[in-house]
Amino acid sequence: MPASPDRVQGISLFIVPKFLLRADNTIGERNAVSCGNIEKKMGIHGNATCVMNYDGATGYLVGERDKGLRAMFIMMNAARLGVGVQGMAQSEVAYQNAAQYARDRLQGRALTGPKNAAGPAEPIIVHPDVRRMLMNARAFNEGARALMLWGALQVDLAQVAASPEERQRADDVIGLLTPVIKAYFTDKGYENATNAQQCLGGHGYVQEWGMEQFVRDARITMIYEGANGIQALDLVGRKLPANGGRALRTWTAEIVAALAATSGEPRLQALAEALSRALADLQAATQWLVRNAMGRPDNAGAGAMAYLHLLGLVALGYQWVLMAQAACRALDEDPAETDFYTNKLITARYFCSHLLPETALHRARVEAGCEDMMALDAAAF
Ligand SMILES: Cc1cc2nc3c(=O)[nH]c(=O)nc-3n(C[C@H](O)[C@H](O)[C@H](O)COP(=O)(O)OP(=O)(O)OC[C@H]3O[C@@H](n4cnc5c(N)ncnc54)[C@H](O)[C@@H]3O)c2cc1C
Repeated sequence: MPASPDRVQGISLFIVPKFLLRADNTIGERNAVSCGNIEKKMGIHGNATCVMNYDGATGYLVGERDKGLRAMFIMMNAARLGVGVQGMAQSEVAYQNAAQYARDRLQGRALTGPKNAAGPAEPIIVHPDVRRMLMNARAFNEGARALMLWGALQVDLAQVAASPEERQRADDVIGLLTPVIKAYFTDKGYENATNAQQCLGGHGYVQEWGMEQFVRDARITMIYEGANGIQALDLVGRKLPANGGRALRTWTAEIVAALAATSGEPRLQALAEALSRALADLQAATQWLVRNAMGRPDNAGAGAMAYLHLLGLVALGYQWVLMAQAACRALDEDPAETDFYTNKLITARYFCSHLLPETALHRARVEAGCEDMMALDAAAF
């Protein structure tokens, strides 16, 4: 039998059991697999990470020889979505703790005059900068939750939609969004956990309050199941150009249709305009990559992360417009249900006025190319 290639094309997948089976299928001798060391880590201490030794162990081939990486990617695609949920969930739990603290902690006076005149100071939730951190997390969490549910629907549709065209469409769009959900959600999950820690001031740094654990635990999600930089390369190098850009075309056409459906609803106009601008940034950045990355791959690598964040913002903006539309409908149908839907519209407006404009920055970064990034000699670092 020829040797396997000394590359990823030579990787095979094995099951290595702890105990070997006897011929009669009863449990036999201990296999030679062993745990060499349990790593000491920054966080996720409830989850052991080990060095495993397989010297002389018996393994059983899973699937075809040399096709292990392809098999692993089936697991990896599901795992990437799972890690995206982890990032989003860490942002949510950190936000809930920070919001509770911000309502309780008394410090300073409101810029607009006392809100708690009888008390020695105001609850810090009156301060705009504390609001900034809370609203950033809240607007991300709710948008990301909607996008994750939308993504889960696409996973199902890719399997069971009625026609092959619908299954292909769902497979295309979830393929495009998988690296974005993994990397954008976990970058933001960590950022929001850090900002939630900041809301607690000194208490945020003290173990007893639990916030530093959220920060430590969130950090791994940007690294495992493929570092986020690799997710960005997957998006720009594989998912975008696949089938002549079909996935992005399909998905952006759905956004354009959603934008058209907002016309005539004054409560949605500012949101729709903000999303249209963000979509224009995405389309311009895509065109720039098409023109400038083929001949110079470093241009794709240099802008990949900015492009991934740009696409993540547009994806959340799309979900926010859909949610705002649903909130308007619900408010019209049942004016008694005001709090939930009114708060939804306020948060939608915040997302569109404060977070979505970042697409212009990301577009500028993509269009700046690799020149200045690659100019320094490696020895100069
Ligand atoms: C707690 C923990 C649990 C883990 N669990 C598992 C597990 O269960 N199963 C498993 O198989 N693995 C597991 N891993 C490994 C994990 O998936 C990898 O550490 C991770 O994918 C990053 O790979 P790496 O460490 O080789 O980093 P490297 O590939 O060395 O990357 C280092 C840095 O360089 C960047 N980089 C590397 N190559 C490129 C490139 N071509 N272009 C641009 N940038 C690049 C990366 O983005 C990253 O920022 C675990 C790791 C940890 C810390």
